Amino acid sequence: MTKVLVPTVCPYCGAGCGFCIAVEKERASGIEYMPDHPVSQGALCAKGNAALEILCHPERLVSPLKRRGEGWVSISWPEAMDLVARGLSQAKKKHGPRSLAFLSSSKCSNEDNYLMQKLARLLGSPHIDNCARLCHSPSVVGLNRTLGAAGMTNPIPDIASSRCIFIIGSNLAENHPVISRWIHRAKDRGAAVIVADPRATPTSWMADIFLQLKPGTDVALLNGMAHVIIKEGLINRDYIDRSTRGFEALAEAVKEATAERTAEITGVAAEDIVQAARAYAKSPASSILYSMGITQHSTGTDNVQAVSNLALICGQLGRPGTGVMPLRGQNNVQGACDMGALAEFYPGYKKAADPKTIQYFSAAWSVHDLPLGPGLTATEMIEAAAAGTIKAMYIMGEDPANSDPCSENVRQALESLDFLVVQDIFMTATAQLADVVLPGAVWAEKEGSFTNTERRVQWSHKAIEPPGAARSDGEIICDVARSMGLQFDYPHAASVLDEINRTVPQYAGITRERLDAGSIAWPCPTADHPGTPILHCSGFNLADGKASIVPVAFRPAAEAASSDYPFILTTGRVAVHHNAGSMTRRSPSLISREPDLYVEMNREDAAALDVQDGDEVKITTIRGETAAIARLGDRVKKGVVFMPFHFPGTNILTTEITDQEARIPEFKVCACNISRRD
Ligand code: SF4
Repeated sequence: MTKVLVPTVCPYCGAGCGFCIAVEKERASGIEYMPDHPVSQGALCAKGNAALEILCHPERLVSPLKRRGEGWVSISWPEAMDLVARGLSQAKKKHGPRSLAFLSSSKCSNEDNYLMQKLARLLGSPHIDNCARLCHSPSVVGLNRTLGAAGMTNPIPDIASSRCIFIIGSNLAENHPVISRWIHRAKDRGAAVIVADPRATPTSWMADIFLQLKPGTDVALLNGMAHVIIKEGLINRDYIDRSTRGFEALAEAVKEATAERTAEITGVAAEDIVQAARAYAKSPASSILYSMGITQHSTGTDNVQAVSNLALICGQLGRPGTGVMPLRGQNNVQGACDMGALAEFYPGYKKAADPKTIQYFSAAWSVHDLPLGPGLTATEMIEAAAAGTIKAMYIMGEDPANSDPCSENVRQALESLDFLVVQDIFMTATAQLADVVLPGAVWAEKEGSFTNTERRVQWSHKAIEPPGAARSDGEIICDVARSMGLQFDYPHAASVLDEINRTVPQYAGITRERLDAGSIAWPCPTADHPGTPILHCSGFNLADGKASIVPVAFRPAAEAASSDYPFILTTGRVAVHHNAGSMTRRSPSLISREPDLYVEMNREDAAALDVQDGDEVKITTIRGETAAIARLGDRVKKGVVFMPFHFPGTNILTTEITDQEARIPEFKVCACNISRRD
């Protein structure tokens, strides 16, 4: 029997591990590891190993569907296109193009995202966004402002060269397990590891110094470390003078942030803060890795800027083993942002509010009347739908009814739309609210490029055909566009990448042909440029080539514990599930390992409530209530509880309060109560 090995990229996290799908008789028969892959080197975590389980899943959508009463009927593609074109056109005609909103998908390829944002803008709507809004929009705002580029500064394998690794707000041992292998490699070479997190996690087990801070006190901790570094003369004065601006203002801003004062706010011992600051500043090559524990706060942008400040005052950038590393959640969340599926940016981070951007893309796309932005963010679209100003939405590969905060309000907002079309691979909670559902293809059933968390662009090949009448997302978007009178002539993903090469300067040299020979890190401005694995080696893409040190003051989280809601709920991921769980909860080997929603509680808190391990409890916030299984231990401190967000119940509880700039919701802190369910 002939077996063909087709190289692809893992559909789950932003590490971007590679593997081959073995194809026999046109079916995926197994995974073959890729020992020469630059990141995974032959390894995959539990999720990657289970990736094929969703391909032939019996719940896959195999035909376009339209709502009839409380149920659904299968329809043909021409009828589906007619309904979608009519639904979007009617809203546009009656209420104007700004009554349309589009949610693109960080699960989809760069080409799919490029097409989706182009469709939105050519229809006259500036309202295009993706789920980066829920995970790393503060990295986009904060890193662009401080460092002039919204990406991880150094490649993943570079972590092995770090002599001190500071991990803050990231449980990467569970969420990006293959990245943690590089940390173990650094440890084997003698690197020190500092972990700051409100929970003790498998990541903190790697730590030499563990800073178990109170949820929402990251800025205080980072300012406290900056204070120690400045006070003890551990700054890199040459680097500050040569490469940065704004140091004096930071020094003034953190003058009172002594280790003792920081300890009072964060709950971390003063001597541990001092030790961590010294270890980070003194090492010849220190890196900072962070994730959603930094970004998912009402102070998310401040948190990111405080991370940059620490790296800049110590000169820990622009060399192997250094850097600021935002670990992206979804496999192509970096690429979806690069492609301009963002409210504030056209492709290549060209500001949507800048008339020059409109001129540039009007010329590139040979069109007039492109909308000036910024558009509404994903969270603002939901508010606008509830308020009646957004009338129709096109949602591709996203499940806001599960993944957005205060999910009961999200459902009501989506139900109030005149027209909702959802394109997905399963009947998600959001798809259940749609007028028309379009069946998409998963990564293995289509081709395209994906950009992982380290800006590495990889081509993923098509291994098998999609089931039934399902089609690739790019094909569907082109059909929708043509149904609405637009010229979208892209016969395959490579033809879209051709256009990306012409319109997105960072991707100019990342051609289809070159990706066959291997991955390339952007920026890659020309076809003979090797790509840029390490950013900021010779300055920053900001005024005078200097980075901006931006002082930030500590502000507490929006919600605090009270007598009615005495616990602080923080949410996050577990090793065997991913994001809203639409794929991992349907993956038999993964769901069998973690089948239920649980709440992790401190033993003393549980004893006071007469809750035993395994009891079903009720968790209540001012927004609603949900049930979960109590899991007791010492991973969280007294007064703090943790719930994974992969199950539908969690986001009934979370707050819709957002960071004022990046508009990310504060998933990491809300006040709740817990009681036994008898
Ligand atoms: Fe996939 Fe991420 Fe696991 Fe790698 S670490 S196999 S990319 S889920």
